[in-house]
Amino acid sequence: MSKVLSVNAGSSSLKFKLFDMSNEVILTEGIVERIGSDEAMFTIKVKQEKIKKIMAIKNYELAVSLLINSLTHHEIIYDLDEIKGIGHRVVHGGETFKGSVIINDDVIKQIGDLNDLAPLHNPVNLMGIKQFMSLLPNIPNVAVFDTSFHQTMTEDAYLYGVPYEWYELYGVRKYGFHGTSHKYVSTRVRQILNKDDAKIIICHLGNGASVCAVHGEKSIDTTMGFTPLAGLLMGTRCGDVDAAIIPYVMTKANKTLNEIEADLNKKSGLLGVSGLSNDSRDIEDGINGGNKRCRLAQDIFIRRIVSYISSYHVLLDGADAIAFTAGIGENSTRVREEVLSKLSVLGIKIDHEANKVRGSEQLISTSDSSVKCFIIPTNEEVIIARDVVKLIIKN
Ligand code: AMP
Repeated sequence: MSKVLSVNAGSSSLKFKLFDMSNEVILTEGIVERIGSDEAMFTIKVKQEKIKKIMAIKNYELAVSLLINSLTHHEIIYDLDEIKGIGHRVVHGGETFKGSVIINDDVIKQIGDLNDLAPLHNPVNLMGIKQFMSLLPNIPNVAVFDTSFHQTMTEDAYLYGVPYEWYELYGVRKYGFHGTSHKYVSTRVRQILNKDDAKIIICHLGNGASVCAVHGEKSIDTTMGFTPLAGLLMGTRCGDVDAAIIPYVMTKANKTLNEIEADLNKKSGLLGVSGLSNDSRDIEDGINGGNKRCRLAQDIFIRRIVSYISSYHVLLDGADAIAFTAGIGENSTRVREEVLSKLSVLGIKIDHEANKVRGSEQLISTSDSSVKCFIIPTNEEVIIARDVVKLIIKN
């Protein structure tokens, strides 16, 4: 059996899934949360049951060794050598990484060189990689980048209307994110449609959110940009704003650049507009209770999604499919309903009954809809594990 561990290291959390890649079955999954605290939480699924433990996990090394030891402790595997490879999610691959790579010293250096582009993410991703490499030195590691799927965008899609030297000297361009999710969903839709050159618009709507236009295996355009701050309104991120707002508010509110950046990343979006919550369930409860700011937050959220879908429909010269994924996309009947009903001018027709499902793969458009619409639960971890198989096991 070819067992592969898929890992996502965040600033204080470590998510993992162990696959048997002979049939892509998940053997176990779990998360270490609040790393660094006396009350960290470790959750692991053993035989369909979630086992939770609260304990002090002071650093990343302890988190990784806890995870590794629990795999044998719970007899999910008997020997760590059964793991044939480890795949790591890395947020930023810049223009250096156009696909996934086996990690060696050069790759570690190159990922570190990109830290300036993703200061909140790449350093922690690297730390996770280094811990696994030192605790399991005989198991090969693969880096899978959130950005690399979008490296197929052409210059007219990825360049901003700013001095060209900003791109040449500082790498200022659109990179796009959520690449593994957009890759998984587009692959799945192509399989369902049985059409290799399908044109697909994917709405990844979670706490972070982006829309992507995909033709065949290529990302043509996407809404996140130089950082994940651009595009749609998100849980706490502002999405597209006029850059001139930044110096204006700095002066008016006497704030520093760092404070404004934090406001745009952490206090904006659904949270900023509603004044209540970044969680779309709270927003929907607020709307049901007549809260006007919640309604407004949702209206802005929906309007941007609709606007990007229609723009990408034209860009793709007519999409074959629209797919909804991630927390909101998979679960919110209401958001899908509001988005798709606003697209009726394009001949898109939602099947209201089919749209009532949550979290499962489903066609949600009527048979006479001009574009097929789907819910496709995303699976970023399996894309990571597939790349490990491609680069390590099959070679
Ligand atoms: P993610 O970042 O993909 O984990 O998605 C998180 C978002 O999904 C949060 O805004 C949640 O409120 C939202 N979400 C999860 N379940 C539901 C649901 N049943 N209805 C509406 N939104 C949901």
